[in-house]
Amino acid sequence: MNKIIIVLLIGLFHNSAIAQKDFITKFEKSGGMETATYEEGIAYYKSLGDTFSEINVETYGETDSGNPLHLVTLSLDRDFDFESLRTKDKRIYLINNAIHPGEPDGVDASMMFLRDMVQNIEQYRTQLEKTVIAIIPFYNIGGVLNRNDFTRVNQNGPKEHGFRGNARNYDLNRDFIKNDTKNARTFAAIFQMLDPDIFVDTHVSNGADYPYVMTMDIAQKDKLGGVLEGYLEETMMPSLFEHMKNSDFEMIPYVNVFNESPDKGYSQFFDSPRYSAGYTALFHTIGFQSEPHMLKSYKDRVYATYAFLQGVLNVVSRDSELLKKLRDETKASVKTQKQFDISWKLDKSRHTELEFKGYEASTIDSKVTGQKRLFYDRSKPYKKTIPYYNHYVADVTVEKPDSYFIPKGWHTIVDRLKLNEIEFYQLERDSIIAVEVYYIEDYKTRTAPFEGHYMHYDVKVRKETERLDFSKGDYVVPVNQWRNRYIVETLEPHGMDSFFAWNFFDTILQRKEGYSPYVFEEIAAQLLKDDPKLKARFEKRKQADHEFAHSSKAQLDFIYMKSPYYEREHLRYPVFRSITKAESGIK
Ligand SMILES: [Zn+2]
Repeated sequence: MNKIIIVLLIGLFHNSAIAQKDFITKFEKSGGMETATYEEGIAYYKSLGDTFSEINVETYGETDSGNPLHLVTLSLDRDFDFESLRTKDKRIYLINNAIHPGEPDGVDASMMFLRDMVQNIEQYRTQLEKTVIAIIPFYNIGGVLNRNDFTRVNQNGPKEHGFRGNARNYDLNRDFIKNDTKNARTFAAIFQMLDPDIFVDTHVSNGADYPYVMTMDIAQKDKLGGVLEGYLEETMMPSLFEHMKNSDFEMIPYVNVFNESPDKGYSQFFDSPRYSAGYTALFHTIGFQSEPHMLKSYKDRVYATYAFLQGVLNVVSRDSELLKKLRDETKASVKTQKQFDISWKLDKSRHTELEFKGYEASTIDSKVTGQKRLFYDRSKPYKKTIPYYNHYVADVTVEKPDSYFIPKGWHTIVDRLKLNEIEFYQLERDSIIAVEVYYIEDYKTRTAPFEGHYMHYDVKVRKETERLDFSKGDYVVPVNQWRNRYIVETLEPHGMDSFFAWNFFDTILQRKEGYSPYVFEEIAAQLLKDDPKLKARFEKRKQADHEFAHSSKAQLDFIYMKSPYYEREHLRYPVFRSITKAESGIK
């Protein structure tokens, strides 16, 4: 048998294998009632990868479940090296599924989406020449494996689904900054390796009732940077809404309304960096959360999600050069941006007009509680213009420092910076450096646990300039990087999702040493005698503050905290801001 015949035979076998594999998904076989299990989904992608050379299936890193995270890539050039792909000027489109495994619409939509593209490659050639698609088939694997038929009580299918908590009961859509889970750490590594231009995290809605099958939550536009914000609002969003309308799944911005009617208007969901699209915005990646409506049939929701994934691909491919240009401009400008907003509040004074189709809502008597309850009357649909509040204004803005100094002991912080490919260097020798130091003046703490933390909020700081000792090996993070927004939002303690807010620095909030009053009495008396200025402040306080004047503890504390015996670590935030290279003495 000569070589040509062997090749022909292999070709025949190969083609007949393709013909036999129809790649019909479990969702399709069940008439849109069921979703693939973890094992079925992974086997499906592996089989696609074995059959089509344009698809690559790989595992990256760990998850809390003990299973590795899979990444499935569709690349027309059969090049699966993301660094190389970027030099070929390809846009990268990342889709994340089953972060909330009770909401598996994207799992099934992605399987069909990838199959349809690879089986009809000529039809998709225009898009795929410009865009590489990467899919995380199951992000919260522990939750996917915890399959049941109950934990989405308000959701209309599928028959069985996973659970929201991961293998350690974390909600992964709150873990993008604190990285408590192995899932989040692996995600960060994949995300930074890909540096995607566009990101979709697939979900299902909660909340109000209305006729739309599809809703969509958008990345916080003002964080993306000026030119990207304009593109998102003026070009990308209108194209996506148009695409969805033409696909028979008219879409509306995520209806962020719970247990009341949206007919008076509603506000945009605020994606702070703990959430997927809030995290991707830190790196100027446009992020969406697809949120099909929980009460619509599973079949419709999956096809609506499919249509959305398709729409994003069409727009990204159409605007490929423009999107690259705008992202490059944004990445360049953020390197020298001087001020960063790190906390926002809703601006109720501004809104966009939204044409909204809803159902009339009223309150009726509850047959269960005897109290009033909300009732939507689906026989009374309406269409009206309502206010949509999608403007947020900064309530905390900071000047960026030249660099941040992080003493090397704070390795949990350095780990997270590394995961996110933040550049830094280490001091080569012990040095005394002039830095800005934050003292925590005030903060509030949640009284109930939230995702394994008692978060801090309303953090108030006082800033001093001091010359401090740093050691060889301490970390210096220059704030001249395109990833600046991540650096500033996590390291400024009053940022709403800062490492401080997430309890990484709680040890500085507690005094480690103290004094016995009967011993300190003598020292306090001597201190007042030696320091007339201190004595004057002490007496003034006593006269002005009745409570102080009657508390020996408060008075001794006042003197102790101003004495050399008081520990300087207490309430001193241990990430320091260097002012300028020249002033700090760093070369
Ligand atoms: Zn969700």
